[in-house]
Amino acid sequence: MTRRVSIFGATGSIGQSTIDLIGRDPGAYEVVALTGASNIDRLAADARRLNAEVAVTCHADRLADLRAALAGTGIEAAAGEQALIEAADRPADWIMSAIVGAAGLAPGVHALRHGTTLALANKESLVTAGPLLMAEARAHGATILPVDSEHSGVFQALAGERIEDVERIVITASGGAFRDWPLDQLAQATPEQAATHPNWDMGQRITVDSASMFNKALELIETKEFFGIAPDRIEAVVHPESLIHALVGFRDGALMAHLGAPDMRHAIGYALHWPARGDIPVARLDLAQIARLTFRPADEVRWPALRLAREVMRTGGLAGAVFNAAKERALDAFLARRIGFPAMAEVVEEVLTRMSSEAGLASDRLNLDTVRQMDHLARVRADDVIRERQ
Ligand code: NDP
Ligand code: MG
Repeated sequence: MTRRVSIFGATGSIGQSTIDLIGRDPGAYEVVALTGASNIDRLAADARRLNAEVAVTCHADRLADLRAALAGTGIEAAAGEQALIEAADRPADWIMSAIVGAAGLAPGVHALRHGTTLALANKESLVTAGPLLMAEARAHGATILPVDSEHSGVFQALAGERIEDVERIVITASGGAFRDWPLDQLAQATPEQAATHPNWDMGQRITVDSASMFNKALELIETKEFFGIAPDRIEAVVHPESLIHALVGFRDGALMAHLGAPDMRHAIGYALHWPARGDIPVARLDLAQIARLTFRPADEVRWPALRLAREVMRTGGLAGAVFNAAKERALDAFLARRIGFPAMAEVVEEVLTRMSSEAGLASDRLNLDTVRQMDHLARVRADDVIRERQ
């Protein structure tokens, strides 16, 4: 029986790896929707190759280009934010959520409302609105499968275990591009230098977030929201080899580690074939050749984003939406060379401070509207802070 699948963020790094896996077994899948943003040529080419029902770009002004690229194929073209939601409302068995940023939230929530299994790479959904996402899944009997490699690792280590036996969860971090840089040189770091990752090949934004550890900060919050574990039981540790992705510690002292090559096709494939395992074309680890695995503490002075994540987890409510939105604007400003690398964390901290008295920040009245409003407000505040610094 074929499975109906959609891929949100199909033109990105995770989207393309997902297409790679699906394309290896075309008879097994019927592709419903593929979505992208600016890369119309790739979106149209993949929609043709996989014979998708509909291709959607989030940019309303690119509809004519997408239509032209799909002319004569019978594949529908659609554009704009609403079109993304309509694509998520189309019946499907499995949806990959791999849009980057807070824009991934609304389509994911809509997919869950139809009981669709959601393979979740878009960690920003859990950071901005974790309780909402988990409640929608519960209410509609939908399954969320983590795709972030650390969370996929935890999920696999937890198979057959009881969550009440878990004492701690440890997620690993490579340390990113500036792991070994002297602290006083970070102010000179360029976007190009920040966008090279020692081990993983990922989209530009998440690669820079790895260097600043904002990625790990988002992942600490993601861990709390997805597994429902108290923040003081969640740790990050620097592991330069990126071979252990996560560890789960149990109350009897056992520590279960998940190891694998740094290739996202493992976690994507796990979510695609779950609860079975598929034949995923990732390298097998040769432990004797690897010889040693090393660890270092995740230094909160070098990476203040980790400290900020703890503050966000303590506050709860809409603090995650503020944190993520401020981080997205600070990242934009760094990429545009308007602020330096260490200033990203300073901007986010300042936005959190200014908004700490904002009505409803810690409120648990989470819905798509309150999240969108808080996200918008935090972006405005972040832009203020960035402007004031110049
Ligand atoms: P990319 O930047 O490579 O791809 C992002 C995708 O989202 C592209 O399809 C892009 O379209 C689309 N997009 C961009 N902006 C919008 C928007 N405003 N609305 C709708 N679609 C948009 O990102 P990655 O694949 O690296 O990451 C995707 C998600 O997965 C992120 O949440 C990331 O944190 C997470 N993740 C990624 C990992 C990785 O290895 N890459 C690992 C773990 C998690 P286009 O390209 O056409 O402009
Ligand atoms: Mg990760």
